[in-house]
Amino acid sequence: MSLFESVFVKLACQRCGKVHDSVVRFRSYSGRADAEYQLMEVASRRDGLRVGEVWEGNADRYCDTCYFEWSIAQATAAYEALAELIERGLVTAREKGPTVQTEPSSAQAEQSPPPLPASAINAYAEEYVTELRKQGGIMVTMPYFEELNLSVGDQPVETEEITLEVDDGWTKFLVLIDPLLSDRMAKSGWVADGCTWEDFNVSLDNDRRIIVEDMQGRRLNRDGTRGDGARVSQ
Ligand SMILES: [Zn+2]
Repeated sequence: MSLFESVFVKLACQRCGKVHDSVVRFRSYSGRADAEYQLMEVASRRDGLRVGEVWEGNADRYCDTCYFEWSIAQATAAYEALAELIERGLVTAREKGPTVQTEPSSAQAEQSPPPLPASAINAYAEEYVTELRKQGGIMVTMPYFEELNLSVGDQPVETEEITLEVDDGWTKFLVLIDPLLSDRMAKSGWVADGCTWEDFNVSLDNDRRIIVEDMQGRRLNRDGTRGDGARVSQ
């Protein structure tokens, strides 16, 4: 069972423009948790949805092919940005050794391998991207935490216990790397904020038909066009 209500729609991929089948996920809270609708379908009164309410939803920006390419681009940019931060002396990266759980932490610290130069990062990027292509998998999280220990100044960048406190290593790392990542993604034509979905508003019209509008107030049509029929491209 899905946690979301769904509207099946057609959307133009924001990378390649191809119109593809997609789904807008939303939560009405008043309606059935796993209800599924076609765009413009008349919603049964038994579903609990009320005319006049507006529900926030979202859908993937990209078609499957482009989403995969986004994942590759994102990983590549993440490694490049890391290399830049190392080059500038802001971040230190050390190779993770084989994990020996029994070592006391003090002994491990003494044995920590030397910091990697920026030039070493490219090899990790190539290996990672090759593996990603081989598996055809989509990674949305930042790569390299499996193979590298990072620190900002003398603070380790911990992904295990993320607190989002302003002074922890993880937050400092994000503040450093986010602008570099966004910049690289924007330059290669991707939406810069790293967001792979687009927000929509879902509601019922007066005839209880399911309608979907984008954040510019343009109503989604069944053929994937919006409002006056203009296809959205970026
Ligand atoms: Zn596409």
